Amino acid sequence: MVSSLDKKEAQAWDDFLQKLQEKLPGFVHSWVMSLEPALPLFEDSENGIFLIKSNQSFGIQVLQQKYLKEVEEALFEITNIKRTPRFVLDETVKKKKQQKTTKIEKEHVETAKKMENLAQMHSFCGLNLKYTFENFVEGENSKFAYKIAQMIADAPGQKYNPLFISGSVGLGKTHLMQAIGHKILKNFPNLKIRYTKAEEFGNKLIETLNTCKNPADLNERMRKFRDMHRNVDVLLIDDIQWIDGKKRTEEEIFNTFDALYHAGKQIIFASDRPLSAFEMIPDRLRSRFEWGIEANIKVPDLETRMEIVKQHAKLSDFPISDEVALFLAKEFNTNVRELEGAYNKASARASIEGVELDIENIKEFLDLSSKKKKITVDNILEICAKYFCVDKDEILSTARTKEVVNARKYAIYLAREMLDLSYPVLAKEFNKNHTTIMYQHEKLKKDIQTNKAMQIITDELNELIKIS
Ligand code: ADP
Ligand code: MG
Repeated sequence: MVSSLDKKEAQAWDDFLQKLQEKLPGFVHSWVMSLEPALPLFEDSENGIFLIKSNQSFGIQVLQQKYLKEVEEALFEITNIKRTPRFVLDETVKKKKQQKTTKIEKEHVETAKKMENLAQMHSFCGLNLKYTFENFVEGENSKFAYKIAQMIADAPGQKYNPLFISGSVGLGKTHLMQAIGHKILKNFPNLKIRYTKAEEFGNKLIETLNTCKNPADLNERMRKFRDMHRNVDVLLIDDIQWIDGKKRTEEEIFNTFDALYHAGKQIIFASDRPLSAFEMIPDRLRSRFEWGIEANIKVPDLETRMEIVKQHAKLSDFPISDEVALFLAKEFNTNVRELEGAYNKASARASIEGVELDIENIKEFLDLSSKKKKITVDNILEICAKYFCVDKDEILSTARTKEVVNARKYAIYLAREMLDLSYPVLAKEFNKNHTTIMYQHEKLKKDIQTNKAMQIITDELNELIKIS
């Protein structure tokens, strides 16, 4: 049964949403509609903060960073209580409102088309407002790519064309490529930019080709498709590895590339595979990719991961201590997206439960304590031995068969990465000398960046060890 208080709350919340929409431009309305109160609306909080949930992480950022004052005003106008709103990401909101959101999202794209100010222009180009240079933490792992990216943003189409950003999943390729887009729009507001994922490009192409039976229609639709990608000054194509072996899409990318390149336009690709690992693309396309420069992003080191999660926490308005950042950075050591995801999940829980985000709470919220306790060098040896069908003792011996060498090198690498043990400690554990251990670790770390198969093996072993 719905009590009259619930009804009053629900009505007041609707009024709040309505009021907020009136204060804000059309392109944020869909995000406004995704908001839900995390606590009863009229309940005053001791800390003067009012928590609002949403499933839209990007929407939260825009509201938090650009429209906090309006949200605060609307809240005050409805409740007459002065509080500072704070947003938390809550995936469960999604299920309830999914349908509504997709419909609204479509409207949002339509509205955005009509908008003119810079922020709206950026999102219209397909860019995420968070993915700027200012929000990107530069580390040894991304130094080169970062430098080239900035040079391109200052002089698009002039040098380093195309730029091919490679690196494994979740390491900041999309972020960096979009940062170039944002900076170009800032430096040269008249330039046209388009960001697309290769899969979206390929699917749109095939859809165009398949749905037009009549040749005149087909020509017209193909012309529109081509205009969309060629009538731009900067084209960003993400996840280009998707096209490898897809002949028709490869051909269209090839022609798009040539048209843009010869007109002096900037082209940027991002790929979770290095160029050398593309197996099936035709040579003529491979050579186009090679005309410019390839910049690889590697896994960030511990210090950089700490900076990244601290920076992310700052943007999410739930800052963390160095100690917590260190803990998260150690725990999530291969993929920045996972690192940020872990922070999002833990901070949302901490907000909702009104507790501090300390290490004990994080362990509980992310269910880490039991898993963490289990991992030992012995665990790692056991899983690596099983994976390569060798005996655990052989790994610690001097045997040099191919399988044993493989099992040993992954075990050393993972023991170092997962347990953060020093080289001398690892040397003792593996019955090897310190320099051999260091060499093995560094070598595999490098190989993983360029060899997709080795990357997959490492990820699989990592998972197996965690669940063992
Ligand atoms: P990729 O495209 O390589 O799979 P993304 O660019 O989507 O990875 O990055 C995943 C998440 O990690 C994004 O939220 C991004 O902002 C963040 N991220 C990755 N690297 C960095 C960095 N160096 N500084 C700040 N944020 C980063
Ligand atoms: Mg990406």
